[in-house]
Amino acid sequence: MEEQKQSSETPAKKIIGLTGGIGSGKTTVAEFIEEEGFPVYYSDVHAKEIVNDDADLKQHIKNLLGNDAYDENGFYDRKFVAGIVFDNEELLLKLNSLIHPAVKTDFENWLERQQTEFIFKETALLFELKLNESCYRSVLVTADDNVRIKRVMDRDGKTYREIESIMNRQMPEKDKIKLADFVIFNNEGLDELKSATEKMIVQLNAVSEK
Ligand code: ATP
Repeated sequence: MEEQKQSSETPAKKIIGLTGGIGSGKTTVAEFIEEEGFPVYYSDVHAKEIVNDDADLKQHIKNLLGNDAYDENGFYDRKFVAGIVFDNEELLLKLNSLIHPAVKTDFENWLERQQTEFIFKETALLFELKLNESCYRSVLVTADDNVRIKRVMDRDGKTYREIESIMNRQMPEKDKIKLADFVIFNNEGLDELKSATEKMIVQLNAVSEK
């Protein structure tokens, strides 16, 4: 793994990729990490802003999906886009290949403003897009399928079948577990999840000091 360069004044920034499938609890873990004093870049939140704010990207998306990708007020129409890419993997890939470079640039600009040694990047597609390869370490949050489904049903009001169908399109948990440096199992309560997050940070520090 390539180590990042160290300057004499500031510690080298170490990017930790944080991921997990739908309802795994990765955002909850990200919030605990922030409480521990580390910055977290929420890729999906930034992507949602970028599709509205970046004029070039907006034009490219319209060229790919048509003007209806944006509503009459000029805002990205998430429902419309989801509807046309849902069953069209090729189109989804093309859309991702437009959005991800813009998110990457945004992340790099954000990263320059951060001061801590460890910096976390929360992203659902860490392994799928091989973003882990440019991270110092990766952290996977996972839980049993039925636990994740129940939590998302409670959170979003989606049906069992809808969530299962999203899950079936994501990379299988067993494959992600093999790729991750740290795995947080989130089948228990929030206290246990917080302890597991703190333990992961201790382990990260231990690895980093070697
Ligand atoms: P998504 O990818 O769908 O956005 P996520 O991986 O970011 O999901 P969260 O939003 O953190 O997952 O968690 C899903 C839901 O489950 C949330 O409502 C969260 O509060 C709840 N939750 C997460 N972990 C636990 C836990 N250990 N105990 C109880 N509720 C939990």
